[in-house]
Amino acid sequence: MKNFNPADNIQDLQYFGEFGGVNPSISDSSTYTFLSAKTMFDTFEGNMEGCYLYSRHSSPSNLYLDKALAAMEGTETANVSASGMGAITPTLLQLCGTGDHIVSSRTIYGGTYAFLKNFTPRLGIKTTFVDITKLDVVEAAITPETKVLYCETVSNPLLEVADIEGLSKIAKRHNLTLVVDNTFSPLSVSPARLGADIVIHSLTKYINGSSDTVGGVTCASREFIDSLKNVNSGASMLLGPTMDSLRSASVMKNLRTLHIRMKQHSHNAMYLAQRFEKDGLKTVYPGLESHPSHEIYKTMINPEYGFGGMMTLDIGTLAKANELMELMQAKNLGYLAVSLGFYKTLFSAPGTSTSSEIPLEEQIEMGLTDGLIRFSIGLDNNIERSYQMMRACMMELNILIS
Ligand code: PLP
Repeated sequence: MKNFNPADNIQDLQYFGEFGGVNPSISDSSTYTFLSAKTMFDTFEGNMEGCYLYSRHSSPSNLYLDKALAAMEGTETANVSASGMGAITPTLLQLCGTGDHIVSSRTIYGGTYAFLKNFTPRLGIKTTFVDITKLDVVEAAITPETKVLYCETVSNPLLEVADIEGLSKIAKRHNLTLVVDNTFSPLSVSPARLGADIVIHSLTKYINGSSDTVGGVTCASREFIDSLKNVNSGASMLLGPTMDSLRSASVMKNLRTLHIRMKQHSHNAMYLAQRFEKDGLKTVYPGLESHPSHEIYKTMINPEYGFGGMMTLDIGTLAKANELMELMQAKNLGYLAVSLGFYKTLFSAPGTSTSSEIPLEEQIEMGLTDGLIRFSIGLDNNIERSYQMMRACMMELNILIS
């Protein structure tokens, strides 16, 4: 991990606009002209560098953002998409076809879970869901048909940590592609440096950070990204989840402050997690020594960006969790909303929201309890003040007694 700093890699890029602007010009075109028909043909065939054909394939603005995100993750290149699911689904469909098998963490974002559980079986792709923290269980689930090992660095919503180096060794032994969704831990963890083959983000969350758009990215080798964009057989090109150029220009501007934001999210989340744990609440945060994967996570992170901004509290019952969230919103401590990475704290009960696609019995098995609240801790300037106000809400509802 020496000499690799994802934020410095972004900072080191230099772009100029068409008229010397300090921001790159936005390409506001869906199609591009050619001076010669031969060049158009060569571009179509993928034999022409630096020429643009049609914006579903690529556009200058998207390529700028691709480049910045590839620099951040330390991969050869990247491909941005219209949403996180618009990155995940083509990536998996490019890697797997009828008869193939995926081994996936069982604690993943509900939409990804639903795609693997309900949608891909229609195409003859099967998935086995496993406890990703148990490497022996992961390896035992691999069959001769397995093509992909899939996980989230820090899982949604249980904040389980995937040992990416350990999983990468298994993937290499069995000739599998290790795909890691790093949405919860940008900058903090660099999965490709730990052996992941493909790194995915929902840009909707921390990377854009302003809850004003959805977006996604697949960071990988040039060979894989070329295959995704192939005009004849590429899942991204053919399914069409293309990010709009105006949006990619705006995500790019927000990306530039990600390092500052991540440090503050991590600082605030660590502060609250330590306080609430001390208060006797069931608190899960990878930065706490009580987190089952704390030691391994410490070795995985780029320490200056901390342990991230996601934390869970188990309030006991859904009714109490709902009361608390409504009260915290009324006191303007944050918003009762799904998603994450906003400047305000966001909270939701995943069992009835972002993970509701997961059947109840499976939620129980994986430890997703009714009273669990998932917090995306915001950029509060005075986190001690926020803590005192949150604590007062808990006292009012008898969640905390003294
Ligand atoms: N991956 C993770 C970890 C998520 O939390 C989400 C959305 O909540 C997604 C992927 C999907 O991203 P999007 O909503 O941008 O399609």
